[in-house]
Amino acid sequence: MPESIEVYYARVASAADAEGRLAPNAELQAWEVFPFESEGLRLRPLEPLAQAELPRHGEGGTSCDGCDRGDQRSAAVGEVWRDDHWRIAVAESSGAPLILILSPLAHHDFTTLPMPLAAEMGQIMVALGLAIEALPSVARVHVSKWGDGGEHAHIFFYARPSRMPQLRGTMMAVWDDYLPPVPGDVRDGNARAVVQDLVRSYGGRAAGPVA
Ligand SMILES: [Zn+2]
Repeated sequence: MPESIEVYYARVASAADAEGRLAPNAELQAWEVFPFESEGLRLRPLEPLAQAELPRHGEGGTSCDGCDRGDQRSAAVGEVWRDDHWRIAVAESSGAPLILILSPLAHHDFTTLPMPLAAEMGQIMVALGLAIEALPSVARVHVSKWGDGGEHAHIFFYARPSRMPQLRGTMMAVWDDYLPPVPGDVRDGNARAVVQDLVRSYGGRAAGPVA
């Protein structure tokens, strides 16, 4: 029988100090991509085990932003691409040259996508990743699926700037919130180039600010 969350949590809590804080991780904090200096850095105390998972937008038939945006008539301003089953939106300007978000038009959690849609998703992810890595300021695409805020599947694609080795890897998502936001016209120019590539390589059509 796999371990319960109560046993998992008890083991984690037993590693914390009297204030409930876990020890700093010297190896992680010495990592060249770690954004913070170690002095004064400490973890927040562990919170108690919650009674239940926090509710997510769109769960149990509650109102869902993802579905609202899937409806062509109320497509959000950020939409830059769509085909018959999927849409891509551009995120608010942040430190990354571009962040795109891929979602199905219909309401599915990531883990309940019907297999034909899952197969399409894989092909779009690969074609989109290649298009993002073709941007002149970008070396790598980082792909993230979290899904703790909303049930409607949404996958993030971060454009990682080239020749800035501090921004490699998982910490890019943290660096993104500290780097100065790219100007909106730069972001849209990057999105336009990526969408044109995607339309050529996979299909679909440009929308919104890049159409
Ligand atoms: Zn939905």
